Amino acid sequence: MSKPKISSDWMCGCAGCHMSLLDMDERILQVAELADIRATPITDLKEPDEGGVDVGVLEGGINNTANEEVAHRMRKRCKILVSLGDCAVFGGVPAMRNFLPLEESLRRAYVEAESNDSECKIPSDPELATMTKVRAIHEVVPVDVFVPGCPPDPDVIFYVLSELAQGRKPELTGDLLHWH
Ligand code: SF4
Repeated sequence: MSKPKISSDWMCGCAGCHMSLLDMDERILQVAELADIRATPITDLKEPDEGGVDVGVLEGGINNTANEEVAHRMRKRCKILVSLGDCAVFGGVPAMRNFLPLEESLRRAYVEAESNDSECKIPSDPELATMTKVRAIHEVVPVDVFVPGCPPDPDVIFYVLSELAQGRKPELTGDLLHWH
């Protein structure tokens, strides 16, 4: 019997949830024994199989039309969609900018921030031009499993992936809801 396929992708986050996934250390090999790890931001394959995967994992909220495309593509291609981390589950830190007009956030980030270079201008990047309010993934596509935490603990990520790889729905209660 073929192993279930797992794929992941990221959107508006800091990559910390995938770093926490890597912090499973050698337990990644246990997951790889149970499942076929396909496209992820940290493997050579970058887009989930067109033929579909069993489990899709998304990090980050939805911040622009490019993020929307990533979320719709993963939803279309996976049977079970996992929201990984606070940004994915409720918008997280990036959603703090929802309290301000977008122009004000961009000005603070690119013009006023102390760490900017001497040019201090808002870049003309197409991804900035399509920015929206930051939304949780489930506000855009249906989600099956929510894994909160900033980032979720590697133990929790291992539990979630190994349960899903064995065809079980993970139950996140009690200690499994703790995070760093
Ligand atoms: S939940 Fe935390 S660690 Fe994960 S992407 Fe968001 S800010 Fe980074």
